[in-house]
Amino acid sequence: MKGFLEQNISQDSLVTLFSQAPVAICLLIGDNFSINSANPQMLELWGRDASVIGKSLFDVLPEIIDQGFKEILENVYRTGETFKGNKWSVFLEKHGQYDEHFFTFIFAPVYNDDKKIIGISIVATEVTDQIFSERKLKESEYRFEHLIKKSDYPIAIYSTEELFIEFANEKMLKTWGKSASVIGMKLEDALPELEGQPFLGLLKEIFVTGKTYSAKEDRADLVVEGRLQTFYYNFSYKPLKNSNGEVYAILNMAVDVTDLVLARKEIQEREKKFRDLADSMPQFVWTCDNKGEITYMNDSWYKYTGSTENENQTSLIKKMLRPETTEKINKAWEECIRTNTPFVMEYELEDPGQKGNYRWFLGRAVPNFSENGELKQWTGTFTDIDEFKQLETQKDNFLGIASHELKTPLTSLKLYTQYIKTNLEKAGDPKNANVAKRMDYQIDLLTGLINELLDVTKIQKGQMQLNESVFDFDKLVDEVVEEQQMTSRHKLFVSKSSVIGEVFADRHRIAQVMANLISNAIKYSPNADEVHISTSVYENQAQFNVRDFGIGIPEDKQSKVFEQYYRISGSKDYTFSGLGLGLYISSEIIKRTGGEIFVSSSEGEGSDFCFRIPKNKKLI
Ligand code: ADP
Repeated sequence: MKGFLEQNISQDSLVTLFSQAPVAICLLIGDNFSINSANPQMLELWGRDASVIGKSLFDVLPEIIDQGFKEILENVYRTGETFKGNKWSVFLEKHGQYDEHFFTFIFAPVYNDDKKIIGISIVATEVTDQIFSERKLKESEYRFEHLIKKSDYPIAIYSTEELFIEFANEKMLKTWGKSASVIGMKLEDALPELEGQPFLGLLKEIFVTGKTYSAKEDRADLVVEGRLQTFYYNFSYKPLKNSNGEVYAILNMAVDVTDLVLARKEIQEREKKFRDLADSMPQFVWTCDNKGEITYMNDSWYKYTGSTENENQTSLIKKMLRPETTEKINKAWEECIRTNTPFVMEYELEDPGQKGNYRWFLGRAVPNFSENGELKQWTGTFTDIDEFKQLETQKDNFLGIASHELKTPLTSLKLYTQYIKTNLEKAGDPKNANVAKRMDYQIDLLTGLINELLDVTKIQKGQMQLNESVFDFDKLVDEVVEEQQMTSRHKLFVSKSSVIGEVFADRHRIAQVMANLISNAIKYSPNADEVHISTSVYENQAQFNVRDFGIGIPEDKQSKVFEQYYRISGSKDYTFSGLGLGLYISSEIIKRTGGEIFVSSSEGEGSDFCFRIPKNKKLI
């Protein structure tokens, strides 16, 4: 070889080859490794210039002495054994910067003609860039793997059209209800329950189309914990392509939305149940938003009105109201919407089948609030109370006529009784005279009841006239108390904190109210001996109080005692006679006089009824 080179290749050609080689080459001579020659690539690799020629390698690159090179070179020089370094890390100070570099190199002995080692040749290539990019790739691969392994979402990769499970993170294995042993298996073998479901087909199709497939809330039936269960997923199958654009695998990512779907289904089912319930009701049931716009009407309403869901029901209802009542109803409803308080009102709606004919309805609405207290919607009903209203009118008419008709014979009866009583007294028959007296008292009670009924009829027809005049309030109190005292065993105590003097009102009606409150106090305190009556002036009003020590009124019933026919229910009803009209009539009288009436009471301890009327209303 040597002979061949010497004979056939010129020295210049060898120098050119040496200097143009794509690798770094140098020749070190002697045991101090003096640099005999180094091509520009080697100088570049060292970061030095040609002035290093003739100097010892370790003088030129002192930083490599402690990096094991001295021993290696000496060993090659001594033993003649070639040394190969692959991707070795070397710290070099190049252009004033101390950095790590990587080299692949060969240290080979150089012999003279006598086969004696005279030096070492070095051939090296720098692989720093390659090492760094390899490292980066590794890091990013590691990061990616770590990311998908630890991902909160199930991820899997299927390779080839046979769908081998290349990778599946913990979440995906959990989703499948399988262990890591399924990795490497065919998907259809790992999850045989997928047969008959669309997934395997969809995956195989992606190898043909190369297109991502994604689905929302899709149902998948999987065998988990030994039984076939239904789950719902948002998922995607994304093709992974090689540099030729061919699909080599599919990335499957999924989100388990089973809880969400089931919760929504349950809400839908519950909603349907309530709708079915509402639709089957003969009453009209509806909901509206916080502005009063109808959002739902039940079937009965659509059947009744002959309207459809596409029509605006809010304006339909408004149109059905009796025009002269519209403003009043709208005002009350708007006030409820403003204050979020329940709405209850009786009003008429035009009969859809008979124009100009109106039917009575009871309209009710309650606000529904969300957990954080915000108004969600209103739920309401319209109940047809037309028949009830008609019956009520019939009843009122009957009571009006009946009480009126009873009044005349009763007046005669009273006269005859008094006549008999006087005659018996005169005839010296006190025993029978007393019976006649009792009859007279009973006739008074009956007259009182009939008068109450007549008063109610008058109130309802708006015919209760007040004959107002100026009278002495204190005197009236004395008169009423005196009269009541005559027929009662209770002691009636009167206290007047100041003189009230004259008031302008219907004297007879105010006397009726006073008598009613006192007789109630007596009636509802059978075990007491006293009733306290007091008068005072309150903010320029005449105030009248009756305090008893009787059965009292439960708190929730106190506001109701002023309603028509209201009697506190219970066995006591039969103990205490009455129609439940006295307080209703009293409150109507006081209201019309421009005053107020109220009660404070505690059950078992007694009640305090009070009314106030303006003292000098006439002057106002
Ligand atoms: P009634 O004729 O039944 O007494 P009212 O209209 O005068 O009718 O009273 C209505 C109801 O209020 C009564 O039925 C009774 O239950 C209750 N009530 C009225 N006054 C008293 C009172 N002083 N103490 C306890 N309950 C009373």
